[in-house]
Formats: sequence, structure tokens, C-alpha cells
Amino acid sequence: MPRRCRCDARASRTDVSTRRRDVVIAGGGPAGAAAAIALARTGRDVLLVAGSDAAGFKVGEGLPPNARSLLRDLGVLERTLTDGHRASPGTCAVWGDITPHANDFLFQLHGHGLQLDRTRFDAMLRDAAMQAGAEILPDARVRIMAPGDSTRPHRLALQPVDGQTYAGIESIDADWLIDATGRAASLARALGARRIAHDAQIAFHQRLRSARDDDQDGRTWVEAVENGWWYSVLLPSRERLVAFLTDADLCDHRRLLYGDGLWRALVDAPALHALCTAHGYAPASRASGADASGCHLDLASGERWFAVGDAALAFDPLSSKGIANAIYTGLRAADALFHHESGDAAALDGYARHLLDIHRVYREQLRAFHAMETRWPEAPYWSRRQTDAGTKALSLRASTPATRAATAPSAP
Ligand SMILES: Cc1cc2nc3c(=O)[nH]c(=O)nc-3n(C[C@H](O)[C@H](O)[C@H](O)COP(=O)(O)OP(=O)(O)OC[C@H]3O[C@@H](n4cnc5c(N)ncnc54)[C@H](O)[C@@H]3O)c2cc1C
Repeated sequence: MPRRCRCDARASRTDVSTRRRDVVIAGGGPAGAAAAIALARTGRDVLLVAGSDAAGFKVGEGLPPNARSLLRDLGVLERTLTDGHRASPGTCAVWGDITPHANDFLFQLHGHGLQLDRTRFDAMLRDAAMQAGAEILPDARVRIMAPGDSTRPHRLALQPVDGQTYAGIESIDADWLIDATGRAASLARALGARRIAHDAQIAFHQRLRSARDDDQDGRTWVEAVENGWWYSVLLPSRERLVAFLTDADLCDHRRLLYGDGLWRALVDAPALHALCTAHGYAPASRASGADASGCHLDLASGERWFAVGDAALAFDPLSSKGIANAIYTGLRAADALFHHESGDAAALDGYARHLLDIHRVYREQLRAFHAMETRWPEAPYWSRRQTDAGTKALSLRASTPATRAATAPSAP
């Protein structure tokens, strides 16, 4: 039975039930919800502060088949499979040459993947957290007022995202704080962790619609181009999403975000362009931008805190690992907290070291994938990813404040 139900923002505004919590989780994406489910199930008193509870479109939709075991661990596999998401039979990559290379999930052990409605999927996970006994505070953010240490809890401010204040609740104390704030990692950084960026990649994305409604291709399409790569998926809404990923300094943000600039740029990806025009697609939404950089924290845990999901370790979307990593690290952090409280002095460090291992393996895999595209060795996007000198220069550039600012795309 749900212990408390706080899905109504107005109810929450004056009614966060106690001033001290075992765990406060900042961020209501998959990482925060997974940690909340696992911790609430062990009887912890958990408050999940969800951030902006966007009702609109959220990008990041491909769930590979091997993520099913994580959904099973969370107890939401059946619910996910019957919640109106679109089955994805595989991928098709135009990478290394102009021939599309298909990879069918039929030949893998886990069955098909999914193209998610991310807004619905994330809301379902938060609902499962509530069912497990966590309290959810929507449309609110956490800020650290005074960091905790070995003798005292963290003192945290709760702020509605609309800029108002909660009557009578200026602060809340938490024995543990979990940073699930996504790539911003704002709380872990405030607690002293350093965010290490590997690139300044940016994603421009747009939804397309066709009156013909005859597109049945549920695969994830990926196509390399001279300045980056494109991907496209058929969403559960029957809209087709197209996205262009490139480095922030290699593109004209305004041209891509304004009018039909992104749609016109799709001609650079001939296979995807042919797929979209063959089905009569045209833009159905404005183009938007998103930070798609790879980055990780030098330290993903510390005195009374953990970072999980993108906050701890954000992957290049090419890997399609982000959601699975978010759920996995949410579960692992809950496990490490439990072991720490049971007297395992190595649990916090063990979690942080495990994430660094994951990061190392991921970087090797990404490098191998980039090495398969040999058509534009002189082009900056590829040379930065295919040579040691290029990779080093890319990391250095990504760490400068100017480049970090440029990674946040702004509307024209
Ligand atoms: C273009 C693109 C395509 C992608 N495609 C895929 C894909 O196909 N497959 C895949 O697996 N992954 C993909 N990803 C990555 C995936 O979306 C992320 O890895 C995933 O959303 C990470 O989950 P999270 O819970 O860590 O963070 P998020 O989902 O980013 O959630 C963080 C939440 O924290 C909230 N928040 C921020 N600050 C605060 C605060 N101070 N207090 C409280 N809340 C706060 C935010 O409002 C947000 O709701 C893609 C990403 C991009 C950019």
C-alpha cells in the first residue's frame, strides 16, 4: 500500500509531511525513481523531489532488450511492456560506408527493445516509487543549504520550480542525499565532486508527421555524416523523431533551431532523408536542442551522498545506454547505502570505483565504434574521436566554461 500520496502539487506545497528524512532524492528521472523504489522497499523514509515534471516531449526513447532484467528487478517489466510503448525489432546503421547494416534483436536472448514514450515511462517509474512507499514532491527542486558530515544530516532547501516558496517549509534535513539531477549533477558538484566532460556534443531534434501513416519501420536508424551523425525512430505516437548530433562549435545553432532548418539539413543524411521523404513526412514540432555530451564525476559518492544516472555518468546517446545506466546506478546506490549502514566500511568507495570501471569500458566501446567510421578522417568531428591527440584536445575544450555554455542550446 502506498504510504503517502503527494502527486498534487498544491497539496504538496503546504504538506511535506516531516522535516527529517532518511533519504532525499533530487531528480525524478529513471535514476531517481529507481533509487526511490529500492530504498522505500527496505523501509527507508524517502522523499523524491522530482524537478520539473515536464508534461511535454522528453527525448531519449530507445530501450535496448537487455534493459528488461533491470525493469524486472524494479517490478515494472509487465507494466512497461503493456503501457503503449512501441516494440523495436533492431537497429539499422549507415556507418563506415553507404550500405545500411541491420542488426536484428531477434538473434539476441532478450527479445525486442522498446521505443518509449519517455514522459509516460518516467511518470510510471515515479508512480511505482510511490506505490513502494516513497513520497513524491513534483515540480520542485532541491538546493543544499548546509552539507552534512559524519555528525549531522544535510540541510536542504525545497523550491517549487515556479519560483514560489513552500509555506512554512524553508528546509528539510536528510540523513542521505541522492543526486539524480541528470547531466547538471548540481548537488554532487556543490558537495565537491568534479564533473569531467569528454566532449561538447549537442543534439538537435524534431518530430515529423505524415498523413499517410504507412511507416512500419520500428528500428533505430543511425547514419554518420561528415560533421556528426543522425538518428531516427518511430515513436509510440506514430511521429518520427529525427536528431542530429554534432559538436557545439561545428554547427550553426540558430540555423538548425529556426524554422525548418533542421528538416532541411536532413539531406546531408541520404538514407534517412530517403526514408522520411518516401513516407511523406513533414515537421510536426519545433526543433529543440539538448546537451548530449559525455561526462562523468571524478567521485560518485561521499559523506552521506551518492550521485546516480546521468549525474554520475552520462553517455553519448550513440550507446543507447543512458536509461539502463540510470536504473542500474539507482539500484546500486541503494544497495551500497544499505551495506554502508550495515557496517560495510568499503561500500561507498566500492560504488564510486564500480562506476569508474563502467566508464572505462564504455569509453573503449565508444572509441571502437567511432573507429569504424573511416570516411572523413580529416573532419574535426571524427579526428577528435579517432586519434589520441584529438580525444585529448576534445576533453580539454569541453572543460572550458565557454564550451560548456555553448553546449546548452538556446532557442532563436
Ligand atoms: C538526444 C538524446 C538521445 C538519447 N537517446 C537515448 C536512448 O535512445 N536510449 C537511452 O537509454 N538513453 C538515451 N539518452 C539518455 C537518457 O535520456 C538519459 O541517460 C536518462 O534520461 C538519464 O536519466 P536520469 O534519471 O539520470 O536523468 P534525467 O532523466 O535527466 O532526469 C533528471 C531530473 O532531475 C531534475 N532535476 C534537475 N535538477 C534538480 C534539482 N536541483 N532538484 C530536483 N530535481 C532536479 C530534472 O528536472 C529531471 O527531471 C539520450 C539523451 C539525449 C540527449
